[in-house]
Amino acid sequence: MTSPFDLTGRRALVTGSSRGIGLAIARTLLSSGAHVVIHGRAAAVVAATASALAEEFGAEAVSTAVFDVTDETSVVAGVAAIEAAGAIDILVNNAGVQHREPMLEVSLADWDRVIRTDLTSAFLVGRTVARAMVVRGAGAIVNICSVQTDLARPTIGAYTAAKGGLRNLTKAMTAEWAPHGVRVNGVAPGYIRTELTQALLDDPTFNAWVLGRTPAGRWGEPEDIGGAVVWLASDASRFVTGQVVFVDGGMTAVV
Ligand code: NDP
Repeated sequence: MTSPFDLTGRRALVTGSSRGIGLAIARTLLSSGAHVVIHGRAAAVVAATASALAEEFGAEAVSTAVFDVTDETSVVAGVAAIEAAGAIDILVNNAGVQHREPMLEVSLADWDRVIRTDLTSAFLVGRTVARAMVVRGAGAIVNICSVQTDLARPTIGAYTAAKGGLRNLTKAMTAEWAPHGVRVNGVAPGYIRTELTQALLDDPTFNAWVLGRTPAGRWGEPEDIGGAVVWLASDASRFVTGQVVFVDGGMTAVV
């Protein structure tokens, strides 16, 4: 019997997979048999990442896409170019940014940039990819949320609003697309060591807060996230849709 987690023959687009959590998700999908499209805005970084993965998993397992997830014209052209080579069976909406500033001071431009990158992009890329998934009657979308989907902290208002919105967008997509065989779920990482969080790691007070607030007693690693994504992208979760799985070392389970 084939494992229900096996992704052989499936093609996955992971947005923001040139580094960090997206890259680790791409590696886990590749090791489960999927073809993965490595994506980001910086063409040279995307090419270098894809080339390293191709050495490990084989050239036929990896391809690349370079577009800005906040720009509709680029998203439509980028997705069309990927689909010209084959259908997208799995979409992981992972690209994201953060901006730290109290809400009394944050500019509308910074607020809009975070909402557009962390929430609107999932609608834009999700809608573009789902159009073909709905016609085929199959597909899996995983939206990368955050503990800020559920919990607020000072100085990250736009991020918290976007990630909270992403949970309800996951439900809204489920309401419209589940009848067409497209499942949409979320994975919500806790505090993970990446470029996005480097400044927090380097701050002794913040670092101590994360360690004390996380029952597992450590920061997460990017490699901690891929397993949940493979589950939600594969037939192992075929009756699961509209849900968010927290991969946070217990942070959202305790006060
Ligand atoms: P990184 O900053 O390390 O990586 C972000 C990725 O997104 C890069 O590949 C970046 O590529 C890409 N990206 C950013 N903006 C755009 C854009 N407009 N268009 C296309 N690609 C873009 O972040 P992480 O790996 O830490 O975070 C990944 C996801 O996980 C984010 O959604 C984040 O909110 C979420 N998350 C992270 C946590 C953490 O502790 N690190 C915790 C909870 C959630 P480039 O800039 O070259 O285009």
